Amino acid sequence: TAPGQDAVRPLLDRHRAVIPDWVALYYADPLELTHGEGRYVWDAQGKRYLDFFGGILTTMTAHALPEVTKAVSEQAGRLIHSSTLYLNRPMVELAERVAELSGIPDARVFFTTSGTEANDTALLLATAHRGSNQILAMRNSYHGRSFGAVGITGNRGWSPTSLSPLATLYVHGAVRTRGPYAHLSDADFTAACVADLEDLLGQTRGGVAALIAEPVQGVGGFTAPPDGLYAAFREVLDRHGILWITDEVQTGWGRTGDHFWGWQAHAASGPPDLLTFAKGIGNGMSIGGVVARAEIMNCLDTNSISTFGGSPITMAAGLANLAYLLDHDLQGNAKRVGDLLLERLRAGCAGLPGVREVRGRGLMAGIELVRPGTDTADPDAAAAVLEAAREEGLLIGKGGAHDTSVLRIAPPLTLTEAEAKEGADILVRALRRA
Ligand code: PMP
Repeated sequence: TAPGQDAVRPLLDRHRAVIPDWVALYYADPLELTHGEGRYVWDAQGKRYLDFFGGILTTMTAHALPEVTKAVSEQAGRLIHSSTLYLNRPMVELAERVAELSGIPDARVFFTTSGTEANDTALLLATAHRGSNQILAMRNSYHGRSFGAVGITGNRGWSPTSLSPLATLYVHGAVRTRGPYAHLSDADFTAACVADLEDLLGQTRGGVAALIAEPVQGVGGFTAPPDGLYAAFREVLDRHGILWITDEVQTGWGRTGDHFWGWQAHAASGPPDLLTFAKGIGNGMSIGGVVARAEIMNCLDTNSISTFGGSPITMAAGLANLAYLLDHDLQGNAKRVGDLLLERLRAGCAGLPGVREVRGRGLMAGIELVRPGTDTADPDAAAAVLEAAREEGLLIGKGGAHDTSVLRIAPPLTLTEAEAKEGADILVRALRRA
């Protein structure tokens, strides 16, 4: 194509010509977003959407949050240099805040640019510290897209190769709605999963380095174990000297309302050994990171740096965003508005034969769809609801263990009650129509 023609070719054609096929776009007619404000975004045609998914993807607090925009532009105008070779004030300041909030004693923080790189770093630390490449991960998990991270990703739809530098064993417990223990009470489910873990460990040779788990599985369809499961696991892990890594990429910073971190739903076990975070903390700027006790973090005896991890510009965004989140008690807002949203979704979905379960915690809600009258996952229905909601001006996500049949809702944490009602009502109408 002649250069001038590119501008008039539909963007989708140009996307397909240069971007890999495995970068999946939502919607039969994919959406081009051009700007956002608060909980709303606009497309290239000027249509407005209530954003019920961007809160998890990038925009933890609000689109175009003035405090973050100001911090980023001031830092951009001042200095963006190496994150690691010189003293970096914004990085030290954000590390201090994150270390304190993490609940991990004697914590050290290493910043990366993504959740994938954060989890890869946690794996590097755990395997080096324990001298083992054996990892326990949860069935249906998602931890990122690097060669290391796909090797601990149990969700088949996101794990493109069986080759891995790690020897991974997949554990029962994260999925409550299906599987051999699904019908059990919380206590019996937990006991069954612990017995299964013991059995699995009895069959391994040599030490296992770590267990990595998302407190609420994100890509896996917002499914969570009973509270306390990881505390029960912890007891077994401690006996075997196995480290516990909590992947808080989706559950951190108060999103679940009840807790600041997802691991706190299992608090009897005390803090994890390692914690990874990413996505929304920069409100769109690329921040990921790992927190670990000094003894684990400092087990590497060579240099290991990240050129862009901890960049002053992303750290400035993180500091401004975190201050906003804490000053405005957005965890409390996630609890209040999340409860209201869930209640309204539950009421609206009651009696719908294609809805198997409405579940959630804070501003993280999932609606699992099945073919009416069966137990078979219904990805077509999920896709149809996404389209119908979009038509009415609402963006949601999807995921799940079984062919992306779970609708996922994760709005920015500043969501108001009126917006929660507006979105829930659109979604229920879309479910009835699709
Ligand atoms: N862990 C979890 C729980 C995630 O949901 C994701 C992203 N979906 C990742 C890790 C990877 O993060 P990133 O896409 O920033 O590499």
